[in-house]
Amino acid sequence: MSRFPLAPGAVIGILGGGQLGRMLALAAARLGFDVAVLDPAPDAPAKRVAAHAIDAEYDDPAALARLAAISGVVTFEFENVPATAVERLAAAGAEVAPNGRALAIAQDRLDEKTFLNEAGAPTVRFAAVDDAPGVAAALRSLGAPLLIKSRSGGYDGKGQAWIERADAAEAVFARIGARAAIAEMPAAFRRELSIIAARGRDGEVALYPLAENHHESGVLRRSTAPAEASAATLAQAERIARSLLGALGYVGVIGVELFELEDGRLLVNEFAPRVHNSGHWTLDGCEVDQFEQHIRAVAGWPLGPTHTLARVEMTNLLGDEAADWRRLAAEPDARLWLYGKAEPRPGRKMGHVNRLRPLR
Ligand code: AMP
Repeated sequence: MSRFPLAPGAVIGILGGGQLGRMLALAAARLGFDVAVLDPAPDAPAKRVAAHAIDAEYDDPAALARLAAISGVVTFEFENVPATAVERLAAAGAEVAPNGRALAIAQDRLDEKTFLNEAGAPTVRFAAVDDAPGVAAALRSLGAPLLIKSRSGGYDGKGQAWIERADAAEAVFARIGARAAIAEMPAAFRRELSIIAARGRDGEVALYPLAENHHESGVLRRSTAPAEASAATLAQAERIARSLLGALGYVGVIGVELFELEDGRLLVNEFAPRVHNSGHWTLDGCEVDQFEQHIRAVAGWPLGPTHTLARVEMTNLLGDEAADWRRLAAEPDARLWLYGKAEPRPGRKMGHVNRLRPLR
């Protein structure tokens, strides 16, 4: 007999205890579930709101066995979980969603772009780069400039560098950590957009409206949603999201980052096999937000409606910006989300604020 749909009272395991895990835990609680959070940090934001907290490294066999034993399903809130963790969980009898293949593909930029193209989702042209001469070879085959990104491990623009000329190949390869990399042609984009989508255990798909995203120093600063977009743009985004979800046999919420080119074509930059920062607007802008949607999907529940209730401008609160909580809390149309992080290091995501506007 299938263990799905999970009944209220079941435990949902979460690898990772950051703010995404915290908001997943809050959504799970609303539906009557408990969560178990595995994270090395005892004071991780999600652990403050979790029934079970496991302080351990992500590849700790005993900790993973314990998580598997108590959880009806295990999910993750970031993609840099070691593949061995998912293997160990599966060996211990856990059901993991999204599946290990989606996680593995998202962990490697070269595999990811190759997969995207095979799934019919267009990307910039790219080449594999394994060393400094490889950077020079990519410049010869693709032209200049190129963006060199480490294949794995980078996030928020880390592990990336632009190159214009072959004589900088050594220095640029060293700057990204002298690791296996991908060389990407520049996307001459007009805007950066993203689509948050979900797929349930029965293959049902739910799509959220597009968000328009603004980055500063490689970090998401602001999203506005629903983004103004033509019917053709919406159709492209939805087709891309559906084909990825189908090709991955996916269960859960996915975040797909898009470049909108001057001619209106959409290219995929990358996908995140998890809830996504550019979907935080759904917390206050949609009937069922991305966190509840993810819990519904992994628990085998029907997906919820994604109708928009308000236009939202989501602003990340970085570093000491969250110290402004008194003023933000007094703004009548602002909904404040704080992550319970003690130390406001510069650039650290401490919270976000959703400013609500009437739908046009
Ligand atoms: P990523 O780490 O791949 O998400 O990239 C972080 C940010 O760098 C993106 O949100 C874009 O603003 C920019 N970027 C990434 N790849 C490209 C590209 N091929 N061309 C132009 N800008 C890019």
